[in-house]
Amino acid sequence: MAVDRLLPTDEARDLIQLTRDVADKVLAPIVDEHEKAETYPDGVFATLGEAGLLSLPYPEEWGGGGQPYEVYLQVLEEIAARWAAVAVAVSVHSLACYPLMEFGSAQQQQRWLPDMLGGGTIGAYSLSEPQAGSDAAALTCKATAVEGGYRVDGAKAWITHGGIADFYNLFARTGEGSKGISCFLVPKDTEGLSFGRPEEKMGLHAVPTTSAHYDDAFVPAERRIGAEGQGLQIAFSALDSGRLGIAAVAVGLAQAALDEAVAYARERTAFGRRIIDHQGLGFLLADMAAAVDSARATYLDAARRRDAGLPYSRQASVAKLVATDAAMKVTTDAVQVLGGYGYTRDFRVERYMREAKITQIFEGTNQIQRLVISRHLAG
Ligand SMILES: Cc1cc2nc3c(=O)[nH]c(=O)nc-3n(C[C@H](O)[C@H](O)[C@H](O)COP(=O)(O)OP(=O)(O)OC[C@H]3O[C@@H](n4cnc5c(N)ncnc54)[C@H](O)[C@@H]3O)c2cc1C
Repeated sequence: MAVDRLLPTDEARDLIQLTRDVADKVLAPIVDEHEKAETYPDGVFATLGEAGLLSLPYPEEWGGGGQPYEVYLQVLEEIAARWAAVAVAVSVHSLACYPLMEFGSAQQQQRWLPDMLGGGTIGAYSLSEPQAGSDAAALTCKATAVEGGYRVDGAKAWITHGGIADFYNLFARTGEGSKGISCFLVPKDTEGLSFGRPEEKMGLHAVPTTSAHYDDAFVPAERRIGAEGQGLQIAFSALDSGRLGIAAVAVGLAQAALDEAVAYARERTAFGRRIIDHQGLGFLLADMAAAVDSARATYLDAARRRDAGLPYSRQASVAKLVATDAAMKVTTDAVQVLGGYGYTRDFRVERYMREAKITQIFEGTNQIQRLVISRHLAG
């Protein structure tokens, strides 16, 4: 059932319609096959780029879509409702464009942004390391200054789109402590950079998540984004925006699970009536609908603050926490609504439930979101 969205402009309405068309014609027919076989959907990101759906929240002058964040997130939600793995990779691409857009020099922007925002090159974001996830300041991958640039040594972990993306936001240590980290934009074909085998994950099977290994890899100084030591500030401010993308993905998943559960409950009968007409189940579906609507409201509130130029870090963490917990609960309840069939791969709800779990973990676990919110409360 298409969500009846309150959109700010006719252009936004057209964009949502375009997204639904692309998602229904290009994504929906192949999602099951790729998720089951764990194969990468070649060509899908090029199609999304040609449709102008890859860099919506960035300025048109640089090749972006010039859309408010509240519109971009609703597009992402529509994509996630058909294929969460693709939506996550779109969100990560957007995240990976942020450092150059917000902290790059005019020269760096002119050189790389049009290709990145036009969909010619796909981006990935590599902050996490095997021993440093939540505690990002503990990262150890090292960039040593040499003539003309840096020599990088160390390992990064858990990179969405790793080994396939064309460029990588690399956060590496150039000094001591949390102010000793710098941000680089590293092309995939850098000598000395290699990628591990894709992780064997619970879900999001079609887009690989890999480690990256830097072995005396040379990164020219012109590829450092921002000042030396500014890396963690760049990483965290990018994540404020990225978290909203994950919140939107979670709502898309929850909406898809709700739709499937409602459709099933209207058809399936037990004790002489449709299961949706048993109040115990009808109320479960009502709670699911309330959770989806209120989760959407939290990300829209944060996005509208961002669009208005207001602080939104706390609201972004609230949105990520609320939306991803809602997605976990709603997708689990959707399996319950389908009874035994919900536990099989014949229906999509089991996939939604597996996919919802990761939204509570990446781009800051929900414990870390609580940490951010409580720090705001503590002043
Ligand atoms: C499929 C997938 C894709 C990913 N994609 C990317 C990506 O593209 N780029 C990237 O950089 N990273 C990515 N990640 C990494 C992800 O962001 C981290 O896994 C996440 O931040 C948690 O880090 P960790 O796994 O090291 O867990 P840890 O930090 O070791 O945490 C373990 C547990 O301890 C809890 N914990 C830790 N510190 C605290 C605290 N202070 N208070 C309370 N509880 C705490 C955590 O909430 C968690 O429950 C991805 C991960 C996965 C699984």
